Amino acid sequence: MRRAGAERDPAVTGRDKLTLADIRPLAEEVGLPEIAATDASPFDDLARPLADYEARGRTGFEWADAAERMDPRFWLPEAKSIVTAALPYLTEEGARRMREHPRSEIRGQTSCYVYGEDYHRVLSDRLTALAGRIGNLVGREIRYRVAVDTSPLVDRRVAERSGLGWIGKNGMLFSPRYGSYVFLGALLIDVEIEDALHLPPAIGKHCGDCDLCMRACPTQAFVAPGELKATACLSYVTQMKGIIPRAYRKPLGRRVWGCDVCQQVCPLNRDRAHAEDPVFTPDAEAAYPDLVRLLGMSNRQFLRAYGRSAMAWRGVRTMQRNALVALGNLRRPEAVPIVARFLASDRVELRASAAWALGEIGGQDALRELRAAFASEQDPDVRKEIEDAIANAWGKACEGDEGRDETGSGYRDCDHPCRGDVAGR
Ligand code: SF4
Ligand code: SF4
Repeated sequence: MRRAGAERDPAVTGRDKLTLADIRPLAEEVGLPEIAATDASPFDDLARPLADYEARGRTGFEWADAAERMDPRFWLPEAKSIVTAALPYLTEEGARRMREHPRSEIRGQTSCYVYGEDYHRVLSDRLTALAGRIGNLVGREIRYRVAVDTSPLVDRRVAERSGLGWIGKNGMLFSPRYGSYVFLGALLIDVEIEDALHLPPAIGKHCGDCDLCMRACPTQAFVAPGELKATACLSYVTQMKGIIPRAYRKPLGRRVWGCDVCQQVCPLNRDRAHAEDPVFTPDAEAAYPDLVRLLGMSNRQFLRAYGRSAMAWRGVRTMQRNALVALGNLRRPEAVPIVARFLASDRVELRASAAWALGEIGGQDALRELRAAFASEQDPDVRKEIEDAIANAWGKACEGDEGRDETGSGYRDCDHPCRGDVAGR
């Protein structure tokens, strides 16, 4: 809990209730163009959705206690109202970068929410500044607390109840002006807002018969409109720890952080206003990370290059694991030497990802590296990955022209027992 607002404004001192019309100009002053408000009563309607979510499997990023997630007064006992804010982040330049990837280069792809500055910092600072202005307006020190992603509150439902927007079948909050490319934040205050709303849940009410997002999801992560198996979402997969499950490696494609598919396909996102906030001007290197350069970075170099972005929090090792998987999907033989270096990493997930990538790239060089690594690898999971990668690379060597002699009839360097007899293998 924090306190703000000691300056007294003689014109308004003593007011203990505000309206949104009082707060809106203050929000615009601090860079929050879209706000709404709800009361601080519990979110009883979340009991069932949270139980269902738990049953589908937690990611570990959520607040653990469901009861605390449903009660704003757990976060701020004195709370009377919640001001919600939607901060648009997709600039015109960002939208162009999302469409036009430099595909001929060995570059990854990130979700457009990490193109600019880390929204946690930006939004928290602006909501804190708003709290100060509200304190000045009511002429007393107010108690407040900011919630941006890391609080127990279910930010999309808080935003929906306040009338900030509606929730689509893709589970995203849509601002009428900016679509779903908005960051959400909330400011809990001990001041009553007279015209705060208390709207019921209405997932998908603007979607009609459309279900494009659910069908387009690369991992089919939606179990029902607005309901996601969170552990199957690629956005989570790129942030999880450990070895990426095999089922998600190919769907990742060249992604190294996040996924935008269920927003990109949405017709409700067409013709919406773009953000003009300079803090979200896209950084080309964050939008299309150079995968080979990323694999050569220390953690310090990584933070220097990507530290301003919201994808920096997991550190360089997670990004390198994702880059290895992306290189496997890109199948670029020139990446074999840098990928093979990770077969000797001290991290199991990096060795396993390097093995998988080499199996996907295939070729004699990849096979040689895999065989050498297999001879010294001790970890049973990584040994299995290498074994499977060798089999995969064999298949690719046999199915392609690799290793064929000049006439195309024999297998010049191949020492596999089948000697090119793929069917008999
Ligand atoms: Fe599916 Fe991607 Fe949307 Fe996750 S972000 S639900 S993987 S489309
Ligand atoms: Fe709704 Fe269709 Fe958009 Fe999904 S893609 S959120 S179903 S309008």
